[in-house]
Amino acid sequence: MTPNACDGCGRPVTVAGGVANLWTFGENDGSDGSAITLELQDGTDHLLCYPCLDVVPDNPIADDIARLERVDHENSRVAPASRSSSKHP
Ligand SMILES: [Zn+2]
Repeated sequence: MTPNACDGCGRPVTVAGGVANLWTFGENDGSDGSAITLELQDGTDHLLCYPCLDVVPDNPIADDIARLERVDHENSRVAPASRSSSKHP
């Protein structure tokens, strides 16, 4: 088991390692801080904890991942874009 951090909020997570454990993440609710790797449509991989997975959009982009932040022990959120260079008029 290798210590990792969520790419979104940065909280410490553990990833089930090894082929034998590949699908066991479906059997818990993330109470142990587990995470899975999410592949975006642009082909990049991001390790995300369960709270972050709960709040990312259905088809997240790298910017969504970058705006993820930790709220508390069990929750994350997508922070509103504070410095967007492409504001809608
Ligand atoms: Zn996270």
